[in-house]
Amino acid sequence: SDHLLTYPISPEQMDWSTHYPAYTIRNDKEENVTGDSHDQVETRSANGMKKKVEIADIGCGFGGLLFALAPMFPETLILGIEIRTSVTEYVQEKVRALRTQNKDTGGFQNASCIRANSMKFLPNFFFKAQLGKIFLCFPDPHFKQRKHKARIVSYTLNSEYAYVLRPGGIVYTITDVEDLHNWMVEHFERHPSFERLGEEEQENEECVAVMRSETEEGKKVERNKGQKFVALFRRLDDPPWP
Ligand code: SAM
Repeated sequence: SDHLLTYPISPEQMDWSTHYPAYTIRNDKEENVTGDSHDQVETRSANGMKKKVEIADIGCGFGGLLFALAPMFPETLILGIEIRTSVTEYVQEKVRALRTQNKDTGGFQNASCIRANSMKFLPNFFFKAQLGKIFLCFPDPHFKQRKHKARIVSYTLNSEYAYVLRPGGIVYTITDVEDLHNWMVEHFERHPSFERLGEEEQENEECVAVMRSETEEGKKVERNKGQKFVALFRRLDDPPWP
């Protein structure tokens, strides 16, 4: 349960080097032997990494989407966040296997997974405006009214998503539960930091088809010939101070 979760006290304290070893300063130094040190030194960030995570898949489950996104955005660090220990371990193991299989191309060095409760510790992991994309795919519906507070979309949690997302960044949502879809739309539309993307813009968005087809839940819904409800929300600029 939660009391066994470890999390950094601030994003500066988070050690990403074990998650993305190909993007650490240590590897930079090794590369520096061959020459181009100057530019690379300039791109280092405070906690020993060349890059920061920019895409988060919240409640990533077995990582179907994570592993589909990694080759689509080979220069971007992508993180799955999952609360179940065994599922997190499965994804981490699969990351290791895919990296070994793709040693020659360096594939999947940009994908990793942490065990965390995304409802509690997001700002401990990410700086303000760090992320460009957040995926909330088939979140647990928590059907009963008294369980609604366990949903990962709420006015308060949307403020946390707004904090870690940069202006112009996108929250992607998909579910097969119409009631939950309406709930997510209502809570994001009500939040001053977000606007919903129109149908056309949504369907032209490069990640939407992948989110429909590559998530484990998406595949299950497909097999059962169920419906999938999609909604995307753009992080707006903060209004200027008066
Ligand atoms: N996103 C995947 C997909 O679309 O196939 C998995 C969807 S599954 C229905 C929901 C996942 O969210 C589960 O793996 C669950 O353990 C995880 N989850 C639920 N609450 C969470 C939380 N607070 N923080 C992180 N993960 C959570």
